[in-house]
Amino acid sequence: MVKPFIIGTRNSGQFLHAGAEILRNGGTALDAVEAATRLVELNPNDTSVGLGGIPNILGVQEMDASLMCGKTMNTGSVGALKGFKHPISVARKVLDEAPHVLLVGAGAEHFARVMDCETGDLETEESVKVYKAFVNDAFEHEGIDESQAWAVNYARSQNLRDWYDRLADERHGTVNIVAIDENGDIASAVSTSGTALKFPGRLGDSPIIGAGNYCDNRYGAATCTGRGELAIRNSTARTIIHYMEEGLSAKDAASRAMKDIHALKAFGSMNCIVFDAKGNTTSATTRPDRESVHWYMDMESKEPEKRVGINVNPPVNHDE
Ligand code: ASP
Repeated sequence: MVKPFIIGTRNSGQFLHAGAEILRNGGTALDAVEAATRLVELNPNDTSVGLGGIPNILGVQEMDASLMCGKTMNTGSVGALKGFKHPISVARKVLDEAPHVLLVGAGAEHFARVMDCETGDLETEESVKVYKAFVNDAFEHEGIDESQAWAVNYARSQNLRDWYDRLADERHGTVNIVAIDENGDIASAVSTSGTALKFPGRLGDSPIIGAGNYCDNRYGAATCTGRGELAIRNSTARTIIHYMEEGLSAKDAASRAMKDIHALKAFGSMNCIVFDAKGNTTSATTRPDRESVHWYMDMESKEPEKRVGINVNPPVNHDE
């Protein structure tokens, strides 16, 4: 029997304490990953999750989140959700209460209100500042008109890509948290404000079960961060679980899925954290220039332990 543990990305793993405490007291993996994710959502210094998330191209913060239970294979997701403090807990309500698995936009907000989920303003001085800097730049390049057609024109321009690059390091990302409890039940949670300056209504991989989030008690868990479009195109999280089902180790499954991302030959990078049903953990990135890290806590841990995963570099192109 694998002993309970929790792993995650972000903030040196400090928020994992909340999840570890729940597991230590015999709580479920589902409660543990939700509790830890809520702490990241509340952190204003984390500028790509919850409070302080960078808005979309029209200045509106739209959140994506999902939860999966590896025992029942039940899932709950919300996309393009505005005005709620804890998107992950709205996703939990979808999982627990709704006859659906994914709600987006106004419908998701209506559902969240009916479920008494906590509303809140997610703007911070910093998120407003970054957006203003972007708008000044965009207006200078494209001008503005009433129809906001500038946003479309701007989005087509190379200049927006420059902004994506500029924001990529510090203001891009997603929290991924996965855990196994004392019953051997696995759960996975993902929450993000998505790609900064995205189109309104754009969903990334985070709320798409199979793309950015998947777990199955029999094989393990996998969650993703990075350019969501890539994980959607490859069903990355589900594919990693499939590779483990076919017999690959967590490390080899993650590595192969990152190679699949390179094979798309598309703009952006991808990262994942993974564990298998035996409790082996790993993480992987398609970026050659960045350490792939995940944080680990089990019931004996006093502090989160840093674990370094693998870099899966792009293949060398001999034609160039
Ligand atoms: N995967 C997220 C998305 O595409 C963003 C990120 O992880 O950077 O929305």
